[in-house]
Amino acid sequence: MQQAKVIWMDGRLVPWADARVHVLTHTLHYGLGVFEGIRAYQCADGGSAVFRLKEHIERFFDSARICHMRIPYTPEEIEKACVETLRANGLAAGYIRPLAFIGDGVMGLHPKDNPVRVSVAAWEWGAYLGEEGLKNGIRVKISSFARQHVNTHMNKAKVCGHYVNSILAKLEVTQAGYDEALLLDTDGYVAEASGENFFIVKRGRILTAPQATVLGGITRDAVLAIARDRGIPVEERRFARDEVYIADEAFFSGTAAEITPIREVDDRPIGKGRPGPITQAVQAAFFDIVKGKDTRYGEWLTRY
Ligand code: PMP
Repeated sequence: MQQAKVIWMDGRLVPWADARVHVLTHTLHYGLGVFEGIRAYQCADGGSAVFRLKEHIERFFDSARICHMRIPYTPEEIEKACVETLRANGLAAGYIRPLAFIGDGVMGLHPKDNPVRVSVAAWEWGAYLGEEGLKNGIRVKISSFARQHVNTHMNKAKVCGHYVNSILAKLEVTQAGYDEALLLDTDGYVAEASGENFFIVKRGRILTAPQATVLGGITRDAVLAIARDRGIPVEERRFARDEVYIADEAFFSGTAAEITPIREVDDRPIGKGRPGPITQAVQAAFFDIVKGKDTRYGEWLTRY
């Protein structure tokens, strides 16, 4: 496990090894907990910044609200906890993982008096889908597991238990030798990956699934802003897998995966089988923004 020195837990920093829970922690059994994944970057000027901290913490509270969980802190307190955890661990860059979970108490499905507990961990984390993938693109396979229906799981929430679906899909395709799983929705249209939003490019236009059925990715939103600001047309609409096979380019967006080009889907090369010009432009713009080189998006950075 990636180690750091301390973890923020229930309001204070504790040594990494002491951030423990009881085996009868409710969330551990049933999966009702919510989390975030946030990245901090070392900036070009030598300082550090968290990317879109406010939006991530807002989504954290939205996820909790969807799940009837009341987080016993304010969003500002959790934002502060994220920055404190980075600082206390001496992390100039890294990944931040706030988690709200239901503690021990009753073991029935209705955890009415169990405490909602919160932890914030941070650690160093390199390119999620590999440096080589960031540069040359990855190989993707459509999973046989569908993304959960909107009325079985709430896709707008980052709920712990939802990730069983993601893990099954990821295991399936990685065991078959691919890098990442793409999931269709229950109507058969392309939805998103195990932990990323998905985009294709056709004749200079970017296409992505509408927000209704996928997680409202914060990196996805950044991609849409980057495209808009550069005059690249974007369409948010449903599309089927055959549209992917004939796309000129494809890429993923996500906090962990950043902007990862896709060179192949279901054994078919996408476009020329290497990252295309729009993907590369969006990726370069993204890294300029997170590293503070493009000051037009300064409000997205929380300096620390
Ligand atoms: N979809 C899913 C299912 C995810 O888990 C993630 C990662 N949070 C994303 C999309 C991308 O969201 P973001 O850009 O906010 O990290």
